[in-house]
Amino acid sequence: MSDEVNPFESLQEQIDDAAAYLEYSPDVLDRLKHPERVLETNLSIEMDDGSIEVVKAFRSQFNGDRGPYKGGVRYHPQVSRDEVKALSGWMVYKCAAVGIPYGGGKGGIRLDPGEYSADEMERITRSFAKELRPLIGEDRDIPAPDVNTGQREMNWIKDTYETLENTTEPGVVTGKAKDSGGSLGRVEATGRSVMLTTREAFDYLGKDIEGATVAVQGYGNAGSVAAKLVEDLGANVVAVSDSSGAVYDADGLDTSAAKDHKIETGSLSGYEGASEELSNEELLTMDVDLLIPAALENAIDGDLAEEVQADVVVEAANGPLTPEADDVMTEREVSVFPDILANAGGVTVSYFEWVQNRQRFYWNEQRVNDELERIITDAFDELVSTYENTDAPSFRTAMYVVAIERVATAAEQSGIWP
Ligand code: GLU
Repeated sequence: MSDEVNPFESLQEQIDDAAAYLEYSPDVLDRLKHPERVLETNLSIEMDDGSIEVVKAFRSQFNGDRGPYKGGVRYHPQVSRDEVKALSGWMVYKCAAVGIPYGGGKGGIRLDPGEYSADEMERITRSFAKELRPLIGEDRDIPAPDVNTGQREMNWIKDTYETLENTTEPGVVTGKAKDSGGSLGRVEATGRSVMLTTREAFDYLGKDIEGATVAVQGYGNAGSVAAKLVEDLGANVVAVSDSSGAVYDADGLDTSAAKDHKIETGSLSGYEGASEELSNEELLTMDVDLLIPAALENAIDGDLAEEVQADVVVEAANGPLTPEADDVMTEREVSVFPDILANAGGVTVSYFEWVQNRQRFYWNEQRVNDELERIITDAFDELVSTYENTDAPSFRTAMYVVAIERVATAAEQSGIWP
């Protein structure tokens, strides 16, 4: 893993790589490479023991030409201004890649949630929601879950916003619990699009997913659901990892039992259904048919990319490969299916949640999953036709060509406000 690579610079490099296949002037492209605004705030929080702690939080609104800003809020010690800028930009191109009517945003609070009580987390989240209130709204900017946040935090943000605004507006945030206006299928949605992308990718490459060996790095919401759903396709998940390390079994792991162990003990370490414990690096370089990085950005740098033995990589995390790693993968002919398609299921079902909130009419889970499948398979087809019709060197660049075209067209149509 590389801490030295700035994810915001990686995003700008990805845009430049794709721009070479498009005919836009540098000034239009410049607008697509910078956030429109970034909120940086220092929240003063009362701890349970009466002391006051100051925590730093951000919200980046990258581009709103295609619709309201949209994207998650993460709680992690590594959160920085440039990280949220990058993540908000990836949201812009993700929403454009799958053709849903949103711009991109992302927020984060720099902390380790494991070090705070539930009451403290509630005060932190509500304090952040109070700061966000003028910026968000169902037609302005719509937060959602990301690393270390979920339904509980979204319900707090919704309640804080609605209380301060004296209204009901469930579509101000997505990823809520069902009884607070959440959508069925939202929790599984990111893992589901990883599975759908994998299914389409193997089919396109003429590979059999039945019996294919799989390693999954990161066993949070995205990784654990993706593991279960590719297992349901007949794949053999042989290794999974979290920050405590990896567990491996050549005969295949029981992905649900591994998840239960993680929920019960807080980590995968000590899971008895595995024959071996490995390091994260060993997992990433295992000889498997499919590697799913599902943790944080920069998990695979250029050096590690030289060692990757998987034939196919499907990105569940945002930005798991550095640009250098990407070049190495392209050179080594490893097929990498990019984050902005593969993990777009989360924001796509957030879109369905928002549509349901606005209509106050709720869908059954089958409808959610069917609509998600249509959107991901259509986007996959667009990716493949662009890949074949341009000489784009990678699936990532081809997907960015599709996405940038859509955002740049909307930006040109919006014009410049004097
Ligand atoms: N955090 C997720 C992502 O990175 C979901 C965002 C959303 O639902 O708005 O795509």
